[in-house]
Amino acid sequence: MSKENIPYKIYLSENELPAYWYNVRADMKNKPAPLLSPATHEPLKFEDLRPVFCDELIKQELNDTDPLIPIPDEIREFYKMYRPAPLVRAYCLEKKLGTPAKIYYKFEGNNTSGSHKLNSAIAQAYYAKKQGLKGVTTETGAGQWGTALSMACSYFGLDCQVYMVKVSYEQKPFRREVMRTYGANVTPSPSNTTEVGKKILAEFPGTGGSLGCAISEAVEAATKQEGYRYVLGSVLSQVLLHQTVIGLETMTAMDKYGIKPDVIIGCAGGGSNLGGLISPFMGRKLRGEADYQFIAVEPASCPSLTRGKFVYDFCDTGHVCPLAKMYTLGSEFMPSPNHAGGLRYHGMSSILSQLYDDKLIEARSVEQTAVFDAAQQFARVEGILPAPESSHAIRVAIDEALKCKETGEEKTILFGLTGTGYFDMYAYKAFNDGTMSDYIPTDEDIAKGLAGVPRFPGNMI
Ligand SMILES: *Cc1c(COP(=O)(O)O)cnc(C)c1O
Repeated sequence: MSKENIPYKIYLSENELPAYWYNVRADMKNKPAPLLSPATHEPLKFEDLRPVFCDELIKQELNDTDPLIPIPDEIREFYKMYRPAPLVRAYCLEKKLGTPAKIYYKFEGNNTSGSHKLNSAIAQAYYAKKQGLKGVTTETGAGQWGTALSMACSYFGLDCQVYMVKVSYEQKPFRREVMRTYGANVTPSPSNTTEVGKKILAEFPGTGGSLGCAISEAVEAATKQEGYRYVLGSVLSQVLLHQTVIGLETMTAMDKYGIKPDVIIGCAGGGSNLGGLISPFMGRKLRGEADYQFIAVEPASCPSLTRGKFVYDFCDTGHVCPLAKMYTLGSEFMPSPNHAGGLRYHGMSSILSQLYDDKLIEARSVEQTAVFDAAQQFARVEGILPAPESSHAIRVAIDEALKCKETGEEKTILFGLTGTGYFDMYAYKAFNDGTMSDYIPTDEDIAKGLAGVPRFPGNMI
């Protein structure tokens, strides 16, 4: 199709908003391994998970068979406030790079939370409300998830308690204020409001906290209060399911214009945006209808797919959560201070982990300064100031487009632009000042993290 026929932005109409989420597990030959009890190492059933998670969300978590899960009308109504999200043809970036490749990105930053996380937050808040709960607890690292959940909870009139990693709480006071504006209660973690928090504080006084530690506190807070459940913004299969609204819209828009992506790229923290973007395309690949190259991009400082092991591991530092089989660096792995807070988790979605192990997707790790260099190039020609997390995908999209420049191939490249970076200006400042560093963990660092993986029959490293 000639350039004239493809607009800069492809918008779908409200009526084209997906009516179903797509559950890729239904089409996977090798299903992701079940969650296990950390105590007995037996697969967890619906009843086991009820004290922690909302009922309907547990059903989604355990559902390996239904390909289509209807999106309730109340959630679609909320989606309509900021969706369908635009699919953008990066004409300006293509021109700047001088590449014959065609580059598209799906932009998820057009809402106050500034990222794709709202797609799952609103679904999780809806099911909590429907179950008659009073509120939910959660953790947040960089703050995007906490913000999204605050927005979703205020919409449905639910109490929202956020445990925010202490360093972020201090470094990102404006994130905190957005959450408070939406009525959330924000506690810096570790805190003395929970037993696990007190224990961590006693052991490591003055610690800046971590995501794994905030998760432990949020889970404890949920189980100790009547009418509360814990919700999570990534990693779980239910979250990946909700995020398939990204891929479904993208596929509808591309099909409409007769565009077929050759390469699909996304950044991978816990794997929800990438999983959501690629799921419908992966479904076609799994059913033998089409082929695509999928690339997961992670930071070199937290390389769970490229340097981790595919084993059962703890999801949190306090070891209160179920065990998940995933590519992991170990729950005690401490990534060096990296500016892409949303990509600092030690593990990876078990769906993506299985697809990666089956060689259906590839993974690349990229260094921080190269990521910000790509972010800057992108911001200058495409006008959007990207989140550091999203910029990992931009880096690899640019690399692929430059390869096409060398070979003359006219590949179609699609990537997920997960959010905006307005709350990450300290990171941009470090880049602009030339003080940003690229710390890559040594093999010893990796081995140290992996030493904390639980050992039991069938879980050998
Ligand atoms: C949280 C976040 C990510 C990473 O999370 P996934 O679950 O891997 O998608 C990426 N980009 C942005 C902007 C985020 O907020």
